[in-house]
Amino acid sequence: MTAATVKAPVLEARGLTKHFPVRHARLGATGAVVHAVDNVTLALPGSGITAVVGESGSGKSTLARMLARLLQPTSGAILLDGAGLRGQTRRAYARQVQLVLQDPFSSLNPVHSVRYHLARPLKVHGLAGEADLDTAVSELLARVALTPADQFARKFPHELSGGQRQRVAIARALATRPRVLLADEPVSMLDVSIRLGLLNLLADLRQRDGLTILYVTHDIASARYLADTITVMYAGQVIESGPAPIVTDSPSHPYTQLLLSAAPDPDRTQPPSMLGRGAPPNLIHPPGGCRFHPRCPLAMRVCAEQVPPVADLGNGQTCACWLHVPDRTEEQSRPLSADQAGKGAAMTPNSP
Ligand code: SF4
Repeated sequence: MTAATVKAPVLEARGLTKHFPVRHARLGATGAVVHAVDNVTLALPGSGITAVVGESGSGKSTLARMLARLLQPTSGAILLDGAGLRGQTRRAYARQVQLVLQDPFSSLNPVHSVRYHLARPLKVHGLAGEADLDTAVSELLARVALTPADQFARKFPHELSGGQRQRVAIARALATRPRVLLADEPVSMLDVSIRLGLLNLLADLRQRDGLTILYVTHDIASARYLADTITVMYAGQVIESGPAPIVTDSPSHPYTQLLLSAAPDPDRTQPPSMLGRGAPPNLIHPPGGCRFHPRCPLAMRVCAEQVPPVADLGNGQTCACWLHVPDRTEEQSRPLSADQAGKGAAMTPNSP
C-alpha cells in the first residue's frame, strides 16, 4: 500500500497492562490473574496504519479495547496527542477514537435500519440536526462505497452481505469524524473474496481522510498488505516490531518467522522452514524468561531463566529475543533440553 505522509503519534500506549482476576464459580475471587497484556508500549503515527499481529490469546484485542477505553488498564497510560486522558470524558474521547469490532453480524441491531444505525451517533454527538440527517447519512454511506445511498439507508442488517454490514459498521464509526480508527479483526469473519475490498477501503480512508488506523489481525499477510508498521504480540507482550516490509521480509523473532511460515505466500519458492511445537501458554502462570521458550525450536538455557532485552536492530526494527544479544556466555547459549523446553501439540498460529 502507498503510505500517506506519516506524522507524529496521535494515540500512544505506554506500558499498558491488563490483568483479569480469576474467579471460581463457588469461591469467587481466587487471587490469581490472567496476564492478558503486559507492559505494551505502542505509538500510532498520524495518518499511519499500524498492524498488531498475533494468534488468539496474544492480547491484541484486549489492547485495542483498552485503547478504545472499553477496558480499564491495570496499569500504564494512554496518551492522545501526547497528553494523558485525565479529565477527558469517554464521550469526548469516543468522538476522536472509534472501534470497529470483528463480527459484523452481531454489531448491528437487527430490528433497526441502516439509517437508524448511522443517524444515532450523529444525533448523540450533536453532529447533525434533524433537517441534515439524511444528507449526513448518505455522505457516510458514500464514504464506505455503499451506493445508491438512499437504497442502503432503508435496508435492515439481514438484507446486507457480511461485507456490506462491516461497511455499515465502519460508516457508523466514521459518523463522529474520528481521527483514529481501531479495527479489531475487521475482515476475519468475511469471505476471502470480499476481504480485499474492506482492506482497500481502510487504505482509502487513510489516504483520503488522513485517518490513523490500528489494524488488529492474526493474519500477518494482510498486515503486510495494509500496514506501514507491524507489531507482533505473543502471550500479552510485544516481541517484535518495525516497518511492515522489514518485519515480513526479514523477521528476527522465531515466533514471527513461524507466523510467516504458516501464512499463504504465492511468491515463496521454498517450503516453510520453521517447525513450531507446543501450545499457547497458560496466561495465569506464564512461562518465566521468554514466554515463547517452551515452543521455540531455538531456545537456549538463558531463555528459560531471564526475560530477553529488546534489541534495536536498526531501520526501526526491534526484537525481544536472546538470539540478538551477542555477548551471551557459552553456558547461557546451550540449547534447552526437550524436558526444559516442554512438549505439546502442533502450533496453530492462524487460529482466529
Ligand atoms: Fe526463542 Fe530464546 Fe528467542 Fe525466546 S529468547 S524466541 S526462546 S531464542
